[in-house]
Amino acid sequence: MKTELLELHKKILTCTLCRLSESRKNAVPGEGAFDTSLVLVGEAPGRNEDLLGRPFVGAAGAFLTKLLSSIGVDRDRIFITNVVKCRPPMNRPPRVDEVNACHSYLERQISLINPRIICLMGNNAIKAVLGKGYSISEMHGKQVETANRRFFLTYHPAAVLYAESLEETMMNDFKALANILKPPN
Ligand code: URA
Repeated sequence: MKTELLELHKKILTCTLCRLSESRKNAVPGEGAFDTSLVLVGEAPGRNEDLLGRPFVGAAGAFLTKLLSSIGVDRDRIFITNVVKCRPPMNRPPRVDEVNACHSYLERQISLINPRIICLMGNNAIKAVLGKGYSISEMHGKQVETANRRFFLTYHPAAVLYAESLEETMMNDFKALANILKPPN
């Protein structure tokens, strides 16, 4: 599994399936533990992520790290990635053809890691993965099960940078996520 994931990540680093490969500095396959029960999925790398080739290392990433430590989880014990592995110019939302071009990478990461739960952060990640939009204000903090996967929906950590009131909401969502992840006694 580890070798296959490393191979996949090598492939992502040199991918030219869509136009984002022309403007990126670095593709960002994702990072963390391969043997984990939790995969977090964001939208797409931003400027800092593009420069460093690592997911969630800017301001939204600092908040994500805080959310995780609030539930006692180290970033390196879980896997963090994005729907789209290259930065869209000016941080615009990824286009449908870009999401489609990248889709098999995320699918493969998820099937190799086979986590107990996949946390989708923000409307764009939710729509890209589940194929339809959900009302995030109704569905955040909740689970959605499909035929073979269990998802947990929450806001994108960057949302808190624009609406401070969401900080407590996301903290509570992560508490709910921690409860789901707790091994049964
Ligand atoms: N926003 C995302 O969706 N992903 C990152 O990696 C950074 C910011």
